[in-house]
Amino acid sequence: MRAKHKTIIAVIIFAAVCAAIALPSGKEQGVKRSIFAMDTYMELTVYGHDAEAALDAAENEIMRLDGLLSTGNLSSEVSQLNNKKSGVLSKDCRYLFERSKQINEMTDGAFDITIYPLMEAWGFAGGDFRVPDDDELSRLLKYVGMSLVEYDDETGELKMPQQMKLDFGGIGKGYASQRVTELMRGYDIDASVISLGGNVQTFGRKPDKSKWKIAVKNPDDTSSYIGVLSVMDKAVVTSGGYERFFEKDGVSYHHIIDPRTGRPANSGLLSVTVVCGDGTLADGLSTALYVLGMEKAVDLWRSHSNEFDMILVDSSKKQYVTDGISNLYDSEADYEIIY
Ligand code: ADP
Ligand code: MG
Repeated sequence: MRAKHKTIIAVIIFAAVCAAIALPSGKEQGVKRSIFAMDTYMELTVYGHDAEAALDAAENEIMRLDGLLSTGNLSSEVSQLNNKKSGVLSKDCRYLFERSKQINEMTDGAFDITIYPLMEAWGFAGGDFRVPDDDELSRLLKYVGMSLVEYDDETGELKMPQQMKLDFGGIGKGYASQRVTELMRGYDIDASVISLGGNVQTFGRKPDKSKWKIAVKNPDDTSSYIGVLSVMDKAVVTSGGYERFFEKDGVSYHHIIDPRTGRPANSGLLSVTVVCGDGTLADGLSTALYVLGMEKAVDLWRSHSNEFDMILVDSSKKQYVTDGISNLYDSEADYEIIY
């Protein structure tokens, strides 16, 4: 997958903005490390005695997970599975598959890891962007759907139709941020904040004991932000059509696919930010809620408001913030609180 230069530059600028907001100045800056993995820039900052050792472990873990989940790497577990159409999953892939299935059910199919043939058809897999026609999409859609996968949760054995391919891209970075945060807590550290692409996860408090301030990107201009969230021990994950896209004949096509239509989701939202203690859930939900759109996202939140909170930005750039985080969110623009 190839992001546009513009997007890459915007992400770098954003990372700098984010760092400026998230981190204190002076010698309590923590130890930082930048990594490029999972097709994205990652920035990790750790405070405390064993910061370097924790960062080494984190980097190894990210590389290990990238090696399991990368669809672009032919020897990854996911590529081998996509090639052979069956296999016994590793511990990580079992966890991810089972969580993906739960999120698929929770979101009425909006989150679906069997969309990979569609990612390929649109060119997001290799960078040869194209617009598939209706026939091609309906042919591919016959083999999209997690109910078509045979999975034994006792043994971890999976079997799927010949035409099917899996893609953990909508959940992998959230899982990695969760795993890495848990792993680093085993070291003598006081706090950590990691940003894996649009996935931020924090542990502990800043050295001055205040909460972390996490910027929420402006979906129209990703070098700026629309608001700042104060959080502790939470994942903050944003999905938006601006992350990866291409343009053809004046129309923009992005990388979050609506599994019902096979086309880039067009639900009227510019971005969805999910705040949740569980990084894997945060990532899966941010992708799914972007597909579902405002009304269904609000319904879902109302029945799961103890599990997550969210910030939605609609096509007129209006922001909606759920009650659970409304007092932790600061924006110069007016926003509506969802109860
Ligand atoms: P990003 O990877 O840009 O941070 P997301 O977390 O929203 O954003 O993930 C988008 C990725 O998820 C796509 O690149 C693709 O790999 C995968 N994906 C796209 N549509 C869906 C979907 N409906 N359900 C699950 N995964 C999806
Ligand atoms: Mg996601």
